[in-house]
Amino acid sequence: MTETEVINPDSIDKKVAIIDKLAEVVGPERVSDSELERVVYSGDPAVLPQYHYRWKMKYLADYVVRVENIDEIERILKIAREHSIPVVPRGGASSCMSSSCPSRGGISLDIKPMNRILEINKEKMFVRIEPGVTFERLEETLGKEGLSLGIYPSSAKSAVIGGWIACGGRGGIGTPFYGSLGNHILSLSIIGGNGEIHVIEGNDIDFFLHSYGILGVIFEIKLQVHETVSGYKSFSYGFRSLEGLCASVTEIARLEKKPIYLKIADKELQRYSNPLENGRFVLTASYIDSSQEIPRDELRSITGNNGGVYLGDEFSEKEWNLRYDAEFNPKEHTETLMFQELWVPTSKVFEMLSAYESYRKSHKIPALWFGMLGTSEEMRLELMAMIDAAQYLKFISSKGILHKMMKKAIKAGGAPYTIGLQNSIYMSRAYPDRLIKMQEAKQKWDPDGIMNPDRVTSCLTSFRRIDVLFALATAFRRLSRYVGR
Ligand SMILES: Cc1cc2nc3c(=O)[nH]c(=O)nc-3n(C[C@H](O)[C@H](O)[C@H](O)COP(=O)(O)OP(=O)(O)OC[C@H]3O[C@@H](n4cnc5c(N)ncnc54)[C@H](O)[C@@H]3O)c2cc1C
Repeated sequence: MTETEVINPDSIDKKVAIIDKLAEVVGPERVSDSELERVVYSGDPAVLPQYHYRWKMKYLADYVVRVENIDEIERILKIAREHSIPVVPRGGASSCMSSSCPSRGGISLDIKPMNRILEINKEKMFVRIEPGVTFERLEETLGKEGLSLGIYPSSAKSAVIGGWIACGGRGGIGTPFYGSLGNHILSLSIIGGNGEIHVIEGNDIDFFLHSYGILGVIFEIKLQVHETVSGYKSFSYGFRSLEGLCASVTEIARLEKKPIYLKIADKELQRYSNPLENGRFVLTASYIDSSQEIPRDELRSITGNNGGVYLGDEFSEKEWNLRYDAEFNPKEHTETLMFQELWVPTSKVFEMLSAYESYRKSHKIPALWFGMLGTSEEMRLELMAMIDAAQYLKFISSKGILHKMMKKAIKAGGAPYTIGLQNSIYMSRAYPDRLIKMQEAKQKWDPDGIMNPDRVTSCLTSFRRIDVLFALATAFRRLSRYVGR
């Protein structure tokens, strides 16, 4: 099968024969083609507009298979190659850019049952695990041994380790202090779409960070761990000026003592978790609670010089306790929480957010935003809009603004944070060298093109087409406001 061919689940007979073959591998209870399961396994928390569903049936998995070990994965991939069936690895499905959603039907390969913690080595400070372990469980288990991975996405309750590796694992809680997930990986065991099994170490690990399941399936991981720390202490500040907030981010990020967590948000987002009374923007920086790790004087002087006001111990502690929820809380209050994630240099955060603030005003976008420091140099910015996907023009024109923001971010040295069926159109602009590297790797690891097609190295539509579509939609929206008047 090539990347451009479209797979159709042929006849009912063929489907039954394939289900039987899959059931021979995992048993009938771990394979399903029920409509409910296919629907559940074909989406993620982001709601997509209708134009994404032009080829609707192919966005539905044909089969759901839950695997428990490498032997099963190997046999499932063999069946997939023999019958040219796409395979979509799936962890917690929290990546939101349709990274683990099918584009041509096929098998949704649920990795979560592979969730054993295989070895904890206190002497050599590593843990060996399967890819379906959630961060929450890993931290809990390591904690009993006085150990911790120290880094996790704020989706830690549902996201699994294999999923975060495949998404790059760059910006999360702990990464400004301990470094990215990539820095913690000692080895990865992979089975390629071609059926070959390899243990990857050193520089080659980079191919599988950000690989979004297009090369193969990660089935075992060895990670470096740290000693647990006594606790954390948070400091929250309210700002009236966006400039003051962003200047504080850059300066705090560059201090020698790094935060575990540095979050920024606008008042709109705060309203749904920890409402802000003092100011329009909030910055929270959390540190390991020890006198050597907290730069108290520097924090006071940076935020004070930039117009920040301390919001008190209670507010600050609540911010830390809400770290898993704050980002997505608004979702409970809107039909659709539309969003785009940018990975931008900290020095460009002000440029990005002031552009989004002016779109909020000029295009009446029901905007809100959130940012989390990834490294001392980069921040994951989440630009959101609370909207109703059924209001098609409003939806698509707001999405057009997010597209404009992405183009601005790329010009400023930024990039899309997550790549899936969405965002692959930006690969050649944001990651040109990476794209060539990944195309070569795709040829090597998955020459039959069965692994998670239509993302990263290829895509279902073109940048130009989307660019024109969004430009027309946003222009029409502005025009219709004047005509309406
Ligand atoms: C509330 C919320 C908060 C979030 N916070 C953060 C954050 O702080 N930092 C951050 O970086 N992201 C964050 N995210 C995005 C997302 O949660 C992470 O990227 C997460 O790690 C994805 O893991 P998952 O298990 O859900 O993967 P999935 O979404 O299931 O899969 C992601 C990709 O990995 C592939 N994949 C999954 N398992 C394997 C495997 N074993 N082998 C090969 N490929 C595989 C899939 O095919 C897919 O392409 C957040 C999302 C939400 C909803």
